[in-house]
Amino acid sequence: MKIYYDQDADLSLLKDQTIAILGYGSQGHAHALNLRDSGLKVIVGLRAGGPSYERAQADGFEVLAPHLACSRAEIIMVLVPDQIQPQLYREAIEPNLSPGKMLMFAHGFNIHYGQIVPPKEVDVTMVAPKGPGHLVRREFERGAGVPCLVAVHQDATGQALARALAYAKGIGGTRAGVIETTFREETETDLFGEQCVLCGGVSALIKAGFETLVEAGYPPELAYFECCHELKLIVDLIYEGGLSFMRYSISDTAEYGDLTRGPRIIDQRVKEEMKRILEEIQSGRFAREWILENQAGRPVMNALRRQEAAHPIEEVGARLREMMPWLKKK
Ligand code: NAD
Ligand code: MG
Ligand code: MG
Ligand code: MG
Ligand code: MG
Ligand code: MG
Repeated sequence: MKIYYDQDADLSLLKDQTIAILGYGSQGHAHALNLRDSGLKVIVGLRAGGPSYERAQADGFEVLAPHLACSRAEIIMVLVPDQIQPQLYREAIEPNLSPGKMLMFAHGFNIHYGQIVPPKEVDVTMVAPKGPGHLVRREFERGAGVPCLVAVHQDATGQALARALAYAKGIGGTRAGVIETTFREETETDLFGEQCVLCGGVSALIKAGFETLVEAGYPPELAYFECCHELKLIVDLIYEGGLSFMRYSISDTAEYGDLTRGPRIIDQRVKEEMKRILEEIQSGRFAREWILENQAGRPVMNALRRQEAAHPIEEVGARLREMMPWLKKK
């Protein structure tokens, strides 16, 4: 595994170039501010009247319509939501991709699944921070950085990797370490992680635990605390020091239950389903399904959202969180 640090990246490769950041959300604002603080020339591409337009202007950036930003810039970083990217690409980016420019992404979905096919004469790279935008900004401001992935899909200039690493340095990534990967690996592992573990797996586990206790006659309030609320405490420990540190911190009773019962819950059958889900990702079946779902106006997604919102865990959770004022959003 190749990991790049500050000494492996040369910021001066981008010195005389203009960088267009398309989108000013979680990642966009952090990239734009960090790159500017690194001494690079940054412009922001947004729709007039869009929600983050004024914020980017208030932060002192020149904000242009996306197609104008793309025509002005040598480096174009696409930080709008993934499902918006193909249309934005056709309308604003593609007509402005002259030879030698570099098109960049923070996630590989649209390139890997062929939703965006750039011309051969441009570099196509990815710099993907392994953390949300506010962390990318906060770590940079205190002189550190968030680890990133870097990948090259197309190297037209012979400088694609070096330019991508310079960009990664500009957002602070090489302070922490930048791991080389491919668009395929990044896309497939990202989808697998969110479907099987982080989002899909964890949500299903929480609901199954909650339902089991409630169906057995226990108060939903207790079921919520034990199967949902306390998850954060455990995840924080794992985040900080891995599974061993979490197990060190919990009681021996909890640890013995974990070691003997955990494997009965997530058993061979679950792993076999994970392998099938991975295969759907690798074959492009999931991507096709999601693209068609969007084209059809998201009928399945909307129905599932409504169904999930009506789950009893949501009503109990809302009531209990009212009792915990420190959880209130700022
Ligand atoms: P976001 O939803 O926070 O921000 C999207 C931005 O795009 C907003 O400023 C919005 O106003 C703008 N936008 C929406 N439609 C637009 C349009 N048609 N034209 C111009 N601008 C438009 O998005 P994000 O979470 O920062 O994600 C951006 C990219 O970064 C995605 O590819 C995502 O996969 C990737 N990524 C995100 C994270 C994360 O933690 N959020 C981490 C790594 C990579
Ligand atoms: Mg969402
Ligand atoms: Mg991910
Ligand atoms: Mg993802
Ligand atoms: Mg407990
Ligand atoms: Mg212990």
